[in-house]
Amino acid sequence: MTSYKELGLVNTVELFKKAISGGYALPAYNFNNMEQLQAIIEACVETKSPVILQVSSGARKYANRNLLKNMAKGAVEFAHELGHDIPIVLHLDHGDTFELCVDCIETGFSSVMIDGSHFPYDENVALTRKVCEYAHSRKDYVTVEGELGVLAGVEDEVSAEKSHYTQPAEVEDFVKKTGVDSLAISIGTSHGRAKFKPEQCKRENGILIPPPLRFDILEEVEKRIPGYPIVLHGSSSVPIEYVQMIEKYGGKLSDSVGIPEEQLRKAAKSAVCKINIDSDGRLAMTAIIRKVLTEKPDEFDPRKILGPARDELKKLYTHKNINVLGSANRA
Ligand SMILES: [Zn+2]
Repeated sequence: MTSYKELGLVNTVELFKKAISGGYALPAYNFNNMEQLQAIIEACVETKSPVILQVSSGARKYANRNLLKNMAKGAVEFAHELGHDIPIVLHLDHGDTFELCVDCIETGFSSVMIDGSHFPYDENVALTRKVCEYAHSRKDYVTVEGELGVLAGVEDEVSAEKSHYTQPAEVEDFVKKTGVDSLAISIGTSHGRAKFKPEQCKRENGILIPPPLRFDILEEVEKRIPGYPIVLHGSSSVPIEYVQMIEKYGGKLSDSVGIPEEQLRKAAKSAVCKINIDSDGRLAMTAIIRKVLTEKPDEFDPRKILGPARDELKKLYTHKNINVLGSANRA
């Protein structure tokens, strides 16, 4: 059994308090390989931002659970070596069973998500409470994120046919009954790179303009549980320049559309204190990999292919920390 403290990690309690009072959101970036982790740590150290490293159950299967744990430990040491210790959280993204949450906690995660949002309300309450009781009873107090409302879209093994917005009336009751440390809500964000159907959007110069997020729901939630940490999933912006680069070099990503960055910036200033960004990183890496392979057909050294992709990813995360989340210079 490993405590996250042995790995040099922290839970989310203090970080969320500071994020709410400071009017910014913590970046939650997914990783499953070395180049992604290097880009995240370099960007967050250089911008002096705290960071939540997210691992999905799919990533654990892909990369091996022990390897990932030791990569997170290495990330703490890497940040230190770069000259600035930043708070680093290792978080399970979309845990679907009690057993998976326990396994992650026992192997050094400092935070877990239990996603019971697809269950009937009472079952979601019972499952979330069970995970909280286990995680909070540990000497090192592992934090737990729950979810109410269902997001549309596809992300790893998470899929929901259609979005059901969070009911603000349920939020207060859910938090009280479960003791959960933070809550993911559904206000119109969505997993994946095609967050809305074209018919839900306006079209300007061939580019899809999505419907705005439901800030009225967020405000109602904030009124009912003031100062409580709210989480947004599915918050990539799907930059058009990456989509166009991917298509220019042979890819095909029709009808891609994300959440405009100014709406995320607005959300980050509210009780939203964790914003999940995964698809944008996937797009940045894929765009550069396609470009390099097309422009240098004789290249076969993976470092010359993945290295530039890593550099682009670092640029993307630096931009997000400074201009979207407002988390720069908070660590
Ligand atoms: Zn998610």
